Amino acid sequence: MPEISSSRTGRYDAVVVGAGFGGMYMLHRLREQGLSVRVFEAGSGVGGTWFWNRYPGARCDVESVDYQFSFSEELLREWTWTERYPAQAELLAYLNHVADRFDLRRDIQLNTRVTGATFDEDTQFWQVETDGGDRISATYVVMATGCLSVPRTPSFTGLQDFAGATYHTSSWPHEGVDFTGKRVAVIGTGSSGIQSIPLIAEQAEQLTVFQRTPNHSVPAGNHALDADEQREGVERFAEKRRYATGTFTGLTLPDTGLLANESTPEQRDAVYEERWRQGGLAMYGAFADMLVDEKANATAHEFFSAKIHEKVADPEVAEKLTPRGYPFGGKRICVDTNYFETFNRDNVTLVDLHAEPIERITPGGIVAGGREHAVDAVVFATGFDAMTGALLAMDIRGRDGRALQETWAAGPRTYLGLAVAGFPNMFLVTGPGSPSVFSNMIVSIEQHVDWITDAIERLRADGVRLMEADPKAEDAWVAHVNEVADSTLLPRANSWYVGANVTGKPRIFMPYLGGVGPYRQRCDEVAAQNYDGFQLVG
Ligand code: NAP
Repeated sequence: MPEISSSRTGRYDAVVVGAGFGGMYMLHRLREQGLSVRVFEAGSGVGGTWFWNRYPGARCDVESVDYQFSFSEELLREWTWTERYPAQAELLAYLNHVADRFDLRRDIQLNTRVTGATFDEDTQFWQVETDGGDRISATYVVMATGCLSVPRTPSFTGLQDFAGATYHTSSWPHEGVDFTGKRVAVIGTGSSGIQSIPLIAEQAEQLTVFQRTPNHSVPAGNHALDADEQREGVERFAEKRRYATGTFTGLTLPDTGLLANESTPEQRDAVYEERWRQGGLAMYGAFADMLVDEKANATAHEFFSAKIHEKVADPEVAEKLTPRGYPFGGKRICVDTNYFETFNRDNVTLVDLHAEPIERITPGGIVAGGREHAVDAVVFATGFDAMTGALLAMDIRGRDGRALQETWAAGPRTYLGLAVAGFPNMFLVTGPGSPSVFSNMIVSIEQHVDWITDAIERLRADGVRLMEADPKAEDAWVAHVNEVADSTLLPRANSWYVGANVTGKPRIFMPYLGGVGPYRQRCDEVAAQNYDGFQLVG
């Protein structure tokens, strides 16, 4: 038995950072293998993304039937999803149920942020430190820190003097916010802004939306699931999940396999219309050349432009809401309920920041383009330091005391998005260089957790002490990730995929675009070839 003294110090087989979908499943799998595991979670509850993001309208853009764990038949059968797209509260309830159902809480330490992790070359253990004074040593460290977990609030001049209330969508008050009778500003029109704007507009006296870049958004077509749909969701789950693991995105809606460039305008419209009617992320699968060819991509733009002009009564407002100047799909497409229609309301004003940039915030409002907009509250829907933010916020040191911050100074480098050369026995769940945010996160999380668990099991069975990415294999993988990304139009947009939303962040396309199916196959081959590309030290 491993030696465990208390939660403050002691030695564990594994430390897992984060108790969202990834961290909880990692804990479950490692415990099944008989490992002693300590999970540290900064929040006061489990759930990760779904614990923090409680803004009005927060809802997953992947359907509930696809956005759930597959590892337990009992769990699948005992949980009932009530809507096509799960709302934040339902997802959080599900994750709390998982924590109870698998007795996870006893190994999760809440309200504790990991501040650093250092690999000790003499003992070959990781030393993990937290803001609560814990000092734990562990053979393995698994970073399940989430891809979108470090919020960003721009530093507008005068923000500290604003007299009203400020909120960030990703750290919304648990008791909710009542905007009745208030003049509210929302800054940001990504997924979080687009989901929250319609609901804030319904409640607030006046809503002013500050938009820097318009986004492509598809109606969700959300609805309550009836008993037949719920039953089918369970009965067909295994078959659908098997299918999803081999697709490009890990979603279950088949790609049409058609090319926009080889279709007539009528055929194209029919396909786009059908995907629009299906709702949500189905749009990604409309045409195979849409994300790689400018001409094909332009057809998606045309379709969206027409839809927005249909929905928005004022043509000038519609034009401002129409995405231009970057490829469709270059920014993550959004899934909404009544977003564009909201701009037809009398109490909603759109400010186009390209024409009227924000100059400063005053005690009573926001000055943009020389005009002051008086507001009582500001909602920042301004996104995250994506994919690397949470990892680089910790002082992680590998061999020779080398910091991850230094190793990744020019951008993240990983082997398969799972490991980093020079950081033995450290694993990343959905790290940069893996499909991660460009996939159904649950499919990708389960694949990574299962792969890591199998690897650890093998190491232990074979008496191998350390597993570490080979620098050459890492170089080759990084080159491959970049090559695949550069064969698409996606890196051309100033998106969080490339870190463009964080000043000074190196511009690297971070998710792997080779597809969930081929990526899984590659990871399986690596494992089957005795962890090809890893150095195993006995
Ligand atoms: P986001 O997509 O990064 O959007 C942030 C918004 O804030 C953008 O419109 C951005 O404009 C704007 N912004 C940032 N800095 C600004 C500044 N200084 N001045 C004015 N505007 C500024 O963040 P998010 O909406 O939180 O979404 C992030 C990701 O989380 C999504 O892409 C998605 O993957 C995930 N998410 C999913 C769901 C869902 O499942 N439905 C919901 C929410 C989030 P620019 O575009 O010009 O930078």
